[in-house]
Amino acid sequence: MQRRSLLQSAGALSLLGLGACATTTVPSRAQVVVIGGGYGGATAAKYVRMLSGYKIEVVLIEPNASFISCPLSNLVLGGSKQIGDITSPYAGLRSRHGVTLVEDMATSIDTAKKTVTLARGATIGYDKLIVSPGIDLRLDQVEGLAAAHASGQILHAWKAGAETVALRRQLEAMPDGGTYALSIPEAPYRCPPGPYERACQVASYFTKAKPKSKVLILDANDDVTSKGPLFKKAWADRYAGMVEYRPKHKAVDVDAATNTLKFEFNDDVKATVLNVIPEMRAGDIAVKTGMATANKRWCEIDFLTHESIAVKNVHVLGDSIQIAPAMPKSGHMANQHGKTCAAAVVALLTGKQPNQLPIYNNTCYSFVSEEDVVHVSSVPRYDAEKKTMLTVAGSGGVSSAANELEGRYAMAWARNIWADTLA
Ligand SMILES: Cc1cc2nc3c(=O)[nH]c(=O)nc-3n(C[C@H](O)[C@H](O)[C@H](O)COP(=O)(O)OP(=O)(O)OC[C@H]3O[C@@H](n4cnc5c(N)ncnc54)[C@H](O)[C@@H]3O)c2cc1C
Repeated sequence: MQRRSLLQSAGALSLLGLGACATTTVPSRAQVVVIGGGYGGATAAKYVRMLSGYKIEVVLIEPNASFISCPLSNLVLGGSKQIGDITSPYAGLRSRHGVTLVEDMATSIDTAKKTVTLARGATIGYDKLIVSPGIDLRLDQVEGLAAAHASGQILHAWKAGAETVALRRQLEAMPDGGTYALSIPEAPYRCPPGPYERACQVASYFTKAKPKSKVLILDANDDVTSKGPLFKKAWADRYAGMVEYRPKHKAVDVDAATNTLKFEFNDDVKATVLNVIPEMRAGDIAVKTGMATANKRWCEIDFLTHESIAVKNVHVLGDSIQIAPAMPKSGHMANQHGKTCAAAVVALLTGKQPNQLPIYNNTCYSFVSEEDVVHVSSVPRYDAEKKTMLTVAGSGGVSSAANELEGRYAMAWARNIWADTLA
């Protein structure tokens, strides 16, 4: 029988800004605890249950009441989707798969005692811990950004949710003839094609609602980092005179008083709506547990099991990891990590050898208009000699041109991956 601790402290909860539920029952231990119910963590939680024949107990810790998808969130900015269209409940993980859901934030991990402490004060013990907290933004890398972001003036909207809706409102409020400027950080960052898709979606909205307006892309990289020729063709053919792309623009400073962005080497840019995406690193909880061993930003793992190279019995997934060569930080990839890791954790807990040849697949779709889509895909496979995932020669590829059929595939991809992750 599991010992359960009952925490009741409505005052403390509201101070922490955590949900409306004043009473939470939290198990004091589980064989597997998962931190983060995004693309990686929710998939891992479900698949540990399924692959163990529903024998291994799983607790999933996630502060959000529902799952809000970053994929398709650029369509909310473009106006063809609402935030509700990309929001799904977590309830299926509990009702269909028996995952214990704890709506809270993990604040610390004691790797010696094998316990996780939550914001509301409870502690949960584990045999294996799976950590998939996504990314956190390095707002401090751009002078003045943290304050401008906290005031709601300059947003990144790189975690889908309230900020996506707030950025859409800024675009709606912008007068026709205004400039929307999008600042992109140096790679690696979450979703390589995501910023370029965003530029297309904002341009698609402006074409209909504010045709005298401008979309200015200010990219810290030397060139478009994903599907370059396809995005450039969309900007030239569909949004001629509206979208301008400027590479090698590394943002270092914002002046909130004048909504001006300053760069390492280039002239300042003043915009009506400034959307600054700063550099990223692994989610805070992974960094403060000492797992961000690559440049203090990303977590190195053993690709056979996803176990952290720094901390035993803790497995890291999704955007937080130090990627293998050519591996994108994507929801599709995080879902694949989730399954590989779940299978390895079930094997380790049942005395079996984890699969020695994991293979992933990945497809990232990008909407260049409301309907037309381009994709990039690849198949990474474990290389025992190099101990990393390498793209299988001849696998994957990119679209030859944007088209409406791939628009339908992209929507089907989203429905499938949400079902695979959550239902
Ligand atoms: C605009 C945009 C478009 C994108 N489009 C695509 C696309 O088309 N296709 C694609 O494959 N990918 C896309 N992505 C990338 C994709 O969203 C990420 O790669 C994916 O979400 C990574 O999964 P994850 O599990 O690592 O992180 P997330 O999905 O972000 O999940 C992390 C979860 O952990 C929780 N968490 C964090 N810290 C804690 C803590 N301490 N305690 C408890 N919970 C915690 C968070 O609340 C969150 O729910 C896009 C991203 C963006 C921003």
